[in-house]
Amino acid sequence: KITVFGSFAVDLMARTPHLPVPGETVKGSMFKMGPGGKGFNQCVAAKKAGANVTMITKLGRDTFANVALDTMTALDIPKDHIMFSEDVSTATALIMVDETTSQNEIVVTLGACETISKEDIEKVKNEIIESDYLLVQLEVNIDAVENVVKIAHENGVKVILNTAPARPIDEALFSMIDIITPNEVEAEILTGVHISDETKAQEACNIFFEKGVKNVVITLGSRGVFVATPDESKFIPAFKVNAIDTTGAGDAFNGGFCTALAEGKSIWEAAKFGNALAALSVTRLGTTTSMPTREEIDVLIKE
Ligand code: ADP
Repeated sequence: KITVFGSFAVDLMARTPHLPVPGETVKGSMFKMGPGGKGFNQCVAAKKAGANVTMITKLGRDTFANVALDTMTALDIPKDHIMFSEDVSTATALIMVDETTSQNEIVVTLGACETISKEDIEKVKNEIIESDYLLVQLEVNIDAVENVVKIAHENGVKVILNTAPARPIDEALFSMIDIITPNEVEAEILTGVHISDETKAQEACNIFFEKGVKNVVITLGSRGVFVATPDESKFIPAFKVNAIDTTGAGDAFNGGFCTALAEGKSIWEAAKFGNALAALSVTRLGTTTSMPTREEIDVLIKE
């Protein structure tokens, strides 16, 4: 069983002929609202890939919370471990996209996702302890991340930390991580190594090992992933697809990777599974809506 601990946010996206300058009001050409947030995206990716997965997140008491709850009902994701803030709103991402250049401007307000307290975690502790894997990102208050990682580690639950979005983390956390999954930018921020080739990727992994991380998976966009265990390192290439929207590619990879691990697959096989899930997701617009089914993933892997 997998528990995802992380963010849920409502994505509010408007396309416009041009991005407004300060003080300007522009007429948008299209508006779309939908579920998002790194934690939730990863949970949906895992669920659609066939995982037994639970989501722990915190919502406000507002209309946006219903977007989370309705999506969870539709996808049959258990809602028993959702926490609520009485006074802070559900996280939102206000996204403006220039329809000609595709450039965007985004304001993420984490709201309730940033107010996860020790008492909140105490209430969901059993759910974490009963899991095989804890999949966690950095899109909620950092003390909550540190708290759940500690609980998982002390109770023999394997911890996968996706270090997105990039932000500093307490060095003490590293030795509790079974697998860290940064992208190239996050790996560089955390290790100081610019990943220009496989030698550099290994160098970054060695720094993570020195910090106490057990295994490292660096995602390299359209190239694939670099996987390093203490005994062996391998580059696992991405699937070649026609990418049209790479938003949420990292989330897709992490959801798939963790699903395969929870099924008992090796880290190498799991990386391939994550690559397949992510490759399919980038061929479609959107984040949660672009996550493929298990059947689609299996077909791509067999090809
Ligand atoms: P993030 O979205 O966090 O920046 P990456 O860009 O590294 O993460 O992408 C994560 C994974 O998604 C990659 O390791 C790869 O498996 C897959 N991926 C991303 N872009 C493409 C692409 N253009 N074609 C195929 N797979 C892709």
